[in-house]
Amino acid sequence: MEMLSTRGAAAVTPSRAILRGLAPDGGLYVPSEFPAFTAEEIAALVPMSYQERAYAVLSRFLPDFEEQELRGAIAGAYGTGFDCEAVAPMVRVGDRAHSLELWHGPTLAFKDMALQLLPYLLTLSGKKHGENREVFILVATSGDTGKAALEGFLDVPGTRCCVFYPDGGVSQAQRLQMVTTGGSNTHVIAVRGNFDDAQTGVKKIFSDPDFAAEMDRQGRVLSSANSINFGRLVPQIVYYFSAYADLLADGTVKMGDKVNFCVPTGNFGDILAADYAKKAGLPVGRLICASNENNVLADFIRTGEYDISGRAFYKTISPSMDILISSNLERLLFDLCGCDGAKVAQLMAQLKEERRYAITEEMHKELTARYAAGYVDEAGIREEIRRVWNEEHYLMDTHTAVASAVLRQYVEETGDTTPGVIVSTASPYKFGASVLEAILGSEAVEGKDDFACCDALSALTGTKQPAQISSLPTMPVRHSAVCERDAMAQAVIDAVK
Ligand SMILES: *Cc1c(COP(=O)(O)O)cnc(C)c1O
Repeated sequence: MEMLSTRGAAAVTPSRAILRGLAPDGGLYVPSEFPAFTAEEIAALVPMSYQERAYAVLSRFLPDFEEQELRGAIAGAYGTGFDCEAVAPMVRVGDRAHSLELWHGPTLAFKDMALQLLPYLLTLSGKKHGENREVFILVATSGDTGKAALEGFLDVPGTRCCVFYPDGGVSQAQRLQMVTTGGSNTHVIAVRGNFDDAQTGVKKIFSDPDFAAEMDRQGRVLSSANSINFGRLVPQIVYYFSAYADLLADGTVKMGDKVNFCVPTGNFGDILAADYAKKAGLPVGRLICASNENNVLADFIRTGEYDISGRAFYKTISPSMDILISSNLERLLFDLCGCDGAKVAQLMAQLKEERRYAITEEMHKELTARYAAGYVDEAGIREEIRRVWNEEHYLMDTHTAVASAVLRQYVEETGDTTPGVIVSTASPYKFGASVLEAILGSEAVEGKDDFACCDALSALTGTKQPAQISSLPTMPVRHSAVCERDAMAQAVIDAVK
């Protein structure tokens, strides 16, 4: 297995792709072929721990890593930082679905699933390729990736991590989680703009030869921890296999029965990992792409047209999905057009110039055979949280609620009786104010900050508030830099001076 660029550049090994992040032609790395798991191999996952399941899956996608390298990385990543032994537990939601909880790691969002492992994969990749410069990770975040990256790379020798977040575009708790980060190799900078501005700015820095030359003079080499890096995507494939093994174990499915996954989607990384699991042999039915009011993806899946010209950007209560340009969609396009790098490059150029593109009818047919889509507005998110808590006694955050509501719509519209899994991406306490307001109404949060809301939520529901949240108000703020969106490169240079 090699890694191809979605825009046609020469193939490289997985470790080289992880070290680079983005391909030199601006494309994203994708596997040239997929492992083929047999029914026996999938059934063999049932009695395994999460760590053993992770090895079984990762070893097939990362053939240039040694067994003891991978096992060591997995043990380090999915150890004491997680608050439950299952790492990614499956929880029943009434009798209509399961919830795959991906937020039991140190920063309470699903980004930990990948970003706890990525630093190991990156430093191992660096060693394999004789890289002795400091690996400098640049991240654009809509809220959750930033803290997860900072936490993953914190004081990892030979690495440095700089995070850009949209000023005013993340929750109070998200901001405090980032700006209170310690360590000697972390930087956090607010950008005056939205997430797309931050992401575009980071991509620009990556393709700027002068910036690369400056970093090289400083003994540093740039890499990415955003989900454009294959090292971010590959750990996410594991939990879909793990979820299926858990459904086999509890008798919800028999080997070979299909399962639908409904995924709250932003940059399209999480749902694409499910697609990769399916391509590797996991019995997956439909992948249901759930959007909030920024519903460009839901529209794309329905119509085959990706159009952001004249589309407003909404700030919602599920901010980690507030995105117009979904980076990982490029990987799906590459797959849909039969690995035609020139075609993908043309669509991406068109998106840049005209702010829209349309895929061919043939590509759209393949897309809708694999994916369904839906979206839910702000009132719908609140209603879903309240309803699921009241009727099913399951407490969800605002992102998970998008998936829960869209799965409900999908089942109503299609009558599909395939077992459904809601992919749960954040702890309800990470968005405590919005969750409390959804259950009790706006009077309940009036005059309260995020932390008072979390206290009230805990008292109301009898669920335990994570220490990562309750300790935040008393932690010292260590990062206060702010920059304009066209001055991000200079801000990085100033930060590492
Ligand atoms: C990042 C994130 C998402 C979106 O995931 P993508 O892989 O970007 O589609 C959804 N929910 C939460 C809580 C997130 O942090």
